[in-house]
Amino acid sequence: MRSEDTVSRLGGDEFALILNNLAHPTDAIIVAKKLLVSLQEPFDLKGTSTLVTASIGISVAPHDAETPEQLLRQADTAMYGAKEGGRNDYRFYQPEMTLRAQERLNGERFLRRAVLNHEFEVWYQPKINLLDNTVAGAEALVRWRDPLQGLIFPGEFIPLAENTGLIIQIGEQVIEMVCRDIRRWADLQIVHGVIAINVAPLQIDRSDFVETLKSALRAFDLPAHVLEVEVTESLMMASPEHSREVLATLQGLGVTTSIDDFGTGYSSLAYLKLLPIDHLKIDRSFISDLPNDSRDVAITKTIVELGHALGFKIIAEGVETEAQHSFLKQTGCDQAQGYLYGRPMPAADYEAWLNGRQ
Ligand code: C2E
Ligand code: CA
Ligand code: CA
Repeated sequence: MRSEDTVSRLGGDEFALILNNLAHPTDAIIVAKKLLVSLQEPFDLKGTSTLVTASIGISVAPHDAETPEQLLRQADTAMYGAKEGGRNDYRFYQPEMTLRAQERLNGERFLRRAVLNHEFEVWYQPKINLLDNTVAGAEALVRWRDPLQGLIFPGEFIPLAENTGLIIQIGEQVIEMVCRDIRRWADLQIVHGVIAINVAPLQIDRSDFVETLKSALRAFDLPAHVLEVEVTESLMMASPEHSREVLATLQGLGVTTSIDDFGTGYSSLAYLKLLPIDHLKIDRSFISDLPNDSRDVAITKTIVELGHALGFKIIAEGVETEAQHSFLKQTGCDQAQGYLYGRPMPAADYEAWLNGRQ
C-alpha cells in the first residue's frame, strides 16, 4: 500500500483498505491484483506450507456511495459477490448486488423457518454390489418440502445452510429421520443394508457430531454398523487433525467412513491411506464418459487398482448405462450407484422398491 492509504482490521478475517486520491476508480484493480498475488505466496505455519486467498469487494466514493457507512456496506456486498464468483478475486460494487444480498437474507429467513418446522425429508438411492447385484445399502439424500415452492433439491439450499451454520441443525434432523426409517425397516425385517449420510465439513468441525450420531443410534436402538458417513476431500485437507480424530472414533464405533466425490479434490490415495477411511466414491464426472473416454478409463482403472491395493472399497456414482455398469464390474469396482439401478426415492417408495427385490 502507499503511505497515504489506510489498512484496518474490521474483525475476524475481514480487513478494510482505504485508497485515497485514486486518479481513476479502476486503479483500485491494480491494488487488488497486487494484494491477491502477494497473498498467494505460501508461508510457513508451524512447519506446514500454507497459503491464504482473499475475496475483495470494491466500492468507490462518490460514485457508489456518499457516506463511510454506505461505502463499507457496499464493499462488503461486493466482497460477497467475489466469494460467490469463486473466491480469490475482486469485484466492484453493483446496485444489483444489494438486491441479491436482500434475497440471501430472505433465503436465510425461509431456511430458518424450515428448520423450525421440520420441513425436510430424506430420500434414498440404492447402492448395488457389482459382484452379485445385491443391494449393498442406500445413500440418504435430503430434500426440502417448502409449503409454497414445493420440493427443493439440496443443490439449492445446502450452500446457504453451510454459510449460515443451519447445516448443523439440518444434519441432526437428517440423522434422526434416517435412524427412524432404519428402525422401521429392521422391525419389518426388510434387508436395508448400510445407509450412508452426507456430512458437511461444518458438522464435523463445529458440532458434537459423534455424540449426535451415538444418541440417535441409542434412541432407535440401532447398531452403529447400519450407518456410513460420506465426507469430502476438502474436509480432510482443511482440518486434518480434527477430522482424522472424528473419523477414527466413528470407525471405532463400527460406522463405515467414506470419501465422497473422490478425484475432484487434491488429496492423493497415498495420503488418504493414512486416514481412517473405508470407502472411496469415484466422482460422477469420471464415470459419465465411460467407457469411451480413454482418460476417464485410465483414471477409473487406476483408482480401483491402487485403491484396492491400499485397502479401500471403491464405489462408482452416477452410473446411468449398461456399458458403464459392465466396464465397472469388469474393472473390479465394488459397488455402484446411479439412475441405472434406481433414482433417489422417498422412504415409502424405497421400502416398496426393497420389498420388490426381496
Ligand atoms: P452427492 O453426495 O454427490 O449425491 C449424489 C447426487 O447425484 C444426488 O443429487 C443424486 O440424486 C445424484 N445422482 C445419483 N445418481 C445419479 C445419476 O445416475 N446421474 C446423475 N446425473 N445424477 C445422479 P442430490 O440428491 O441433488 O444431492 C446433491 C448433493 O447435495 C449431494 O451430492 C450432497 O453433496 C448434498 N447433500 C444431499 N443430502 C445431503 C445431506 O443430508 N447433508 C449434506 N450436508 N449434504 C447433502
Ligand atoms: Ca454423497
Ligand atoms: Ca458424490
